[in-house]
Amino acid sequence: MMKKIGVGLAITSAAVTCAVAAYIVSRRIRSRKNWNHTLSILQEFQIESSLSISRLRQIVDAMTVEMHAGLASEGGSKLRMLLSYVDNLPTGDEQGLYYGLDLGGTNFRVLRVQLGGKEGRVIKQEYEEVPIPPQLMVGTNEELFDYIATKLAHFVEKEGDGFHPRPGQDRELGFTFSFPVKQLSIDSGCLLKWTKGFAISDGIGKDVVQSLQEAMKKQGVNMRVAALVNDTVGTLAGARYWNEDVMMAVILGTGTNACYVERAEAITKYQGETPKSGTMVINMEWGNFWSSLLPKTSYDEDLDSESLNPGEQGFEKLISGMYLGDIVRRVLLRMSEESFLFGTEVPPSLFKQFVLRTPDLSKMHQDESSDLREVGRILKHALGIANTPLKVRKIVVELCDLVTERGAKLCGAGIVGVLKKIGRDGSTAGSRAKSESGRAKKTVVAMDGGLYEHYPNFRRYLKETVEDLLGEEAYANVSVELSKDGSGIGAALLAASHSKYN
Ligand code: ADP
Ligand code: MG
Repeated sequence: MMKKIGVGLAITSAAVTCAVAAYIVSRRIRSRKNWNHTLSILQEFQIESSLSISRLRQIVDAMTVEMHAGLASEGGSKLRMLLSYVDNLPTGDEQGLYYGLDLGGTNFRVLRVQLGGKEGRVIKQEYEEVPIPPQLMVGTNEELFDYIATKLAHFVEKEGDGFHPRPGQDRELGFTFSFPVKQLSIDSGCLLKWTKGFAISDGIGKDVVQSLQEAMKKQGVNMRVAALVNDTVGTLAGARYWNEDVMMAVILGTGTNACYVERAEAITKYQGETPKSGTMVINMEWGNFWSSLLPKTSYDEDLDSESLNPGEQGFEKLISGMYLGDIVRRVLLRMSEESFLFGTEVPPSLFKQFVLRTPDLSKMHQDESSDLREVGRILKHALGIANTPLKVRKIVVELCDLVTERGAKLCGAGIVGVLKKIGRDGSTAGSRAKSESGRAKKTVVAMDGGLYEHYPNFRRYLKETVEDLLGEEAYANVSVELSKDGSGIGAALLAASHSKYN
């Protein structure tokens, strides 16, 4: 009996050992399979999102083609190529007190600046930054403008020593409003649509300056809106005030956009008076650029269809700060669902749109510790995923890199497309034209926005792309420069250069 039991036990325990061993082996195989599947998802994304130099060149050309089309006729291209009516960029000679208001992202800013001409330049400057309450981003046009005017009124009340308009002049204001606007003159324009997460129920088709002036009147602010621009045009003006080689500005923040200085005769659709300077700044609204050459993946398709503006702002959705983090999240979600990247359960946070933010990406991407500590910390804090193994962290960093590289390269190609259009890319007779001093013309591209400012790897990929596309010689005459916070002061400078007292 005893023996039998002993044998039985021995058999059972052998069977258990076998089963356990088989289980471990099968788990290992399964986990290897899973890991291989993770890698194949990564590789697939890499292939679909990669941009060869020849593809980038095609995108450069697509950009110039679309620019021509957008300048030729209204609706001729997804690039709206809007007239800014800025034909008088600041030179440094401006004098007096001007206000600026900058709306178009998560914060808005009010500022005042006392200008002292070429000698005094910016004598004094003050600003305040105010967050926009989330409920106002989904409310009504009137509520939003009332809020802005209230904050402006408070700021004006605090105007102190050292600020004074020129004798006999009223205060004037430049308004940076960074949503697509169909400009009708330098100081009026109709809103075309809300973007960047604003889902205001009305206001489309309404004159933005009128909305603002009405709200200011309610608050008793007596000021004339002398210039309506967007952040890109403001940035261009702000940089141009210091350096006349500035020909283009790009915003890389929550959204992305670009503007540049165009010859009036190249703007076929413009039938106004000849601009004073013979040039006009064109607001490209390049966030809406699209070409079949752009490397769109299934993740981008889902992001687009679940966005507030499906089918629109396609270029922006591949490039800007609002979206980069969410593209990474989508790939991680798929890895988690199909290959258990974060264990057998999919972390619930991964289903939430925009939980992974672009600042998180840049922090993880810059983590140089051997155990990728910062990546681990962010996965834990932003996504609630604790104790991630190193190899998982490496996958996350790799994804940050791919998404960032793609966005930055596309932006670089866009910049070169514009330089090519204005003959500053080293390829046309125009760009070889020497300035009077006999040296090749310098061209400065002014950059602003949180993504460009705070994401070093993005910056690096962007500059490398511009350099690769232009070639060493042409690149030597092009400078891509951060022009921080130009958009607010730029609007005030444009109020000065377009002042009714000029
Ligand atoms: P906005 O575009 O809203 O006017 P900003 O130009 O300041 O404002 O840009 C803010 C955006 O920049 C954020 O939405 C974010 O996408 C991006 N950003 C901010 N900080 C960082 C960072 N550290 N790394 C990467 N992107 C950042
Ligand atoms: Mg901004």
